[in-house]
Amino acid sequence: MFCKNCGAQIPDGSVFCTECGTRVQEEPVQEEPVAQEPIQEEPVQPEYVQPEYTPVEQPVYTAEPQPASGDLNDTPILITGILAIALCWTGIGGLICAIICMSKVKKFLAAGGVLAGKAKVGKILGTVGLILSILYMVFWVIYALYFIILAIVAAAGGLSNYSSSYWY
Ligand SMILES: [Zn+2]
Repeated sequence: MFCKNCGAQIPDGSVFCTECGTRVQEEPVQEEPVAQEPIQEEPVQPEYVQPEYTPVEQPVYTAEPQPASGDLNDTPILITGILAIALCWTGIGGLICAIICMSKVKKFLAAGGVLAGKAKVGKILGTVGLILSILYMVFWVIYALYFIILAIVAAAGGLSNYSSSYWY
């Protein structure tokens, strides 16, 4: 609907214009004031202004939970959980996916989600992926150290071989 005063488009059923504040519709709660004396309507009016603002604010309120409903999507939890497992062998890659998975779980629960189905499976996969990723990171560090030590030993051995052959 449109405001009679300024012509702005306003939500249907609005009592006041959201742009200029002009009353654009008769009060929806008519039964009581109509039953009463018309003279009484004037002093009662300020009281009625308060509840009438609530429907105007309502669309703003209903717009807010929408990002929360995005957090209620359990598919990203499952996807990041699977990725954490799939990439755990890389160490850091799995760890990042597992951390994203955990934060998605946290937001999901904060948004009022119930830990069941995809969300539950995703959380378990993310947790396992987190542990495996940490283990793999430790493994890669040891693996790298092993080759560094091996190289040092080889270099030292090569030296000793050289010196022993020198002695022949
Ligand atoms: Zn207006």
